Amino acid sequence: METKLSAAIKEHTKADEIDSILRSCVHCGFCNATCPTYQLLGDENEGPRGRIYLIKQFVEGHAITENTVAHLDHCLHCASCETTCPSGVKYTRLLDISRPLIEESYTRPKKERTQRKRLAKTLSNPLKFSVLLSAGRIGKFLLPSNITEKIPEKRKALDWPVTKHQRRMLILDGCVQPSISPDINASTSQVLDKMGITLLRIKKVSCCGAVKLHLSEEEAALQQMRNNIDYWWSAITEGVKVEAIISTASGCGATLKEYGYHLKDDPDYASKAILVSRLSKDIAEIISEEMIPKATKPLTLAWHPPCTLQHAQGITGMVEAILKKAGHKLVPVADQHLCCGSAGTYSVLQPEIADQLRENKLKALSEAKPDMIVTANIGCQTHLEQKADIPINHWINTLL
Ligand code: SF4
Ligand code: SF4
Repeated sequence: METKLSAAIKEHTKADEIDSILRSCVHCGFCNATCPTYQLLGDENEGPRGRIYLIKQFVEGHAITENTVAHLDHCLHCASCETTCPSGVKYTRLLDISRPLIEESYTRPKKERTQRKRLAKTLSNPLKFSVLLSAGRIGKFLLPSNITEKIPEKRKALDWPVTKHQRRMLILDGCVQPSISPDINASTSQVLDKMGITLLRIKKVSCCGAVKLHLSEEEAALQQMRNNIDYWWSAITEGVKVEAIISTASGCGATLKEYGYHLKDDPDYASKAILVSRLSKDIAEIISEEMIPKATKPLTLAWHPPCTLQHAQGITGMVEAILKKAGHKLVPVADQHLCCGSAGTYSVLQPEIADQLRENKLKALSEAKPDMIVTANIGCQTHLEQKADIPINHWINTLL
């Protein structure tokens, strides 16, 4: 695709990258076939090819309109289009670079600005989120149903084993997961303990940066990444020397694997960020290399692969293989490549599209009447759970 960047955009540090991504798109439209919003809304501007064109117009100097912002806001950042694109167009990267630039050129209505700021502050801060969630659980009876359905029940967690194996790994606690589903990382520590691996937590490490990054607060997100690297650094380089940094939420894992990219222009952190990204692994990548224990209770499962696992991290078939080795039966699920509508803060900011995608996803997951639906990202788990008739869990819980 021909491009002619505006003088202002040419000054941007990522101008060459914007130009090269735009030029790599040959406008074939194959990506529209696997885009959830294009399928739902049937509008060229609600698919990747149309959105690429809208971004092109913006970086070439056309004024940004309310409609353009709305079409880009409707994008789930699911990267399904990237998996499909035969030309390797890095659409989500183009979106990540463009979003903060668009925010600078467009003033959102006050209500939207306030909502986005609140989300960025609350969701990326584990303590604030935990206090808010506890208050919501206590005062549930006072709240309207559209809010109470978003408040998950408290889950019980197993004890974290106190072990000192020679093999050690770090785990990212994450921002919302410890409050919503503390069982996930506790179960992970139990499973890894049986495999001779000690799992370490560094409590100061909080959000991976994804929440702020996707709400266009780029500098704040980069600072969270730098802080996390500082907190982890001694465990990575001195004494303990961990083998890996594990994520049990695929959204966080996808972001950790991109630290090297996001901090590549920071002379103090560039090489450290590359090492953190190299060490970052989804829990499935660790378990698949080990002897898989037989589950105490074999189940019939429906697997929901999060977009951040299958499209962003390119991990496909791995969890399914682990679950089968553990003795579980997997049922076929239609349209597994499509997003469930959770997508970070998307389900809060774009509830209508998110609800429709969830309805479709739950229909597909429930079709074969499994005992349980399993997934690999806290966002998907919580979003689906709000309307599911079947229990939803992280798959790691089924290995115990
Ligand atoms: S992003 Fe890829 S699949 Fe989509 S129109 Fe461009 S080249 Fe074609
Ligand atoms: S990231 Fe997902 S929603 Fe956005 S354009 Fe690509 S396929 Fe569509």
